[in-house]
Parts: sequence; C-alpha cells; structure tokens
Amino acid sequence: MSVKKSTFSVCGMCTVRCPIQVETENGAIQFIQGNPHLGGINGALCARGAAAKP
Ligand code: SF4
Repeated sequence: MSVKKSTFSVCGMCTVRCPIQVETENGAIQFIQGNPHLGGINGALCARGAAAKP
C-alpha cells in the first residue's frame, strides 16, 4: 500500500528559508515546491530549493 503525504516546512538550503510544500510517498520525497497557499511566491522556488530532494 502506498502512503502519500503533504508536509509544510521551510527550505534549509540557504538563509532565506522559503516556505515549502513537500510531497512524500512511503516516506520518500517525490516533489518539492513553494507553499502554494502563500501569496507572493505562489508555489515557486529557486532552482536550488527545488532540487533539494535527497
Ligand atoms: S528556495 Fe532557494 S532562496 Fe529559498 S531558501 Fe531555498 S535555496 Fe534559499
């Protein structure tokens, strides 16, 4: 059985600490985007943050 989860956190790749939404499946990160619920960034992240998937 696949367990999918959406978690809200902040990016730790630099000192800006952008708000992020992380999608996981069975505990493994599948996708990272900026928090789509916050105005101003509308789900966007820089390339470094978006590529932060381990
Ligand atoms: S998304 Fe980019 S600018 Fe924002 S904290 Fe992460 S690395 Fe820094």
